[in-house]
Amino acid sequence: MAPAMLPLLRRAWAAAASSRRGTRRCSLGACCSYRLRDALHPLWQSPLTIPGGTRQSPINIQWRDSVYDPFLKPLKISYDPTTCLHIWNNGYSFLVEFDDSTDRSIIVGGPLENQYRLKQFHFHWGAINDWGSEHTVDSKFYPAELHLVHWNAVEYPSFEEAVMEGNGLAVIGVFLKLGARHEGLQTLVDALPAVKHKDTVIEFDVFDPSCLLPSCPDYWTYAGSLTTPPLTESVTWIIKKKPIEVDEDQLEAFRMLLFTSDGEEEKRMVDNFRPLQPLMDRTVRSSFQVRHLLDTEAQPQGHAEQVRP
Ligand SMILES: [Zn+2]
Repeated sequence: MAPAMLPLLRRAWAAAASSRRGTRRCSLGACCSYRLRDALHPLWQSPLTIPGGTRQSPINIQWRDSVYDPFLKPLKISYDPTTCLHIWNNGYSFLVEFDDSTDRSIIVGGPLENQYRLKQFHFHWGAINDWGSEHTVDSKFYPAELHLVHWNAVEYPSFEEAVMEGNGLAVIGVFLKLGARHEGLQTLVDALPAVKHKDTVIEFDVFDPSCLLPSCPDYWTYAGSLTTPPLTESVTWIIKKKPIEVDEDQLEAFRMLLFTSDGEEEKRMVDNFRPLQPLMDRTVRSSFQVRHLLDTEAQPQGHAEQVRP
């Protein structure tokens, strides 16, 4: 989130926290082991507090329950590397933020009716490789997940206003799996020691995040929410089917960051993901057809065993 959003976030979070009646619990008990529950960020250790939410994120994507939609178009991505501005440790993740005052870095197509402007990207990751992603595929976690956050500048005058609207945001999700070192990511990894502490910001002025996207065009899409406060139900999620590969050193560089400010007792920035939320009355659509039941070629590999309660 951008600094300008903080007052909005604080207000929404305070309102949610003071209104527990009529809220529903997350699916934590059904989906997570005690070990994973212990790993949760304090933000998520109490019952979840969005009143009446029906399209919360993240979710488990059940491969065979997703519905192929032949009308889904390919997603077109056009990023201008010079719109990249800086990296900010916001105390929960690190955000790579972009100049979104013009249409220089946009996505269009896919499930989207408008073009959406890139605002920022960030990651979620675990303390160990057995978990860390927010979404799961057939109940399997990846060690990390990238979110590229865009807003609908055709219909709304600002990011802050788009956040409050059902079609305000579009987030591309990309899973990270353990494998070869990712050269595009390494530029970013090299900069991370400079934003080790909460509230540090550094300039990071030329970066093309399309290098972090898998070449395979296939994706799932569903209507969901932000996974951090204010948890508003404003996100069209576009989850790429294929993960990208990163190596252990790169994940370890994420884990060297701190939730805490300089001078505070150090707390490693790990397990900064929200627990899974119920699908409720939603359908996950896919841009691709499942060719046969054992489509192992595209199934996630090299991550955790299924975690059971
Ligand atoms: Zn995120």
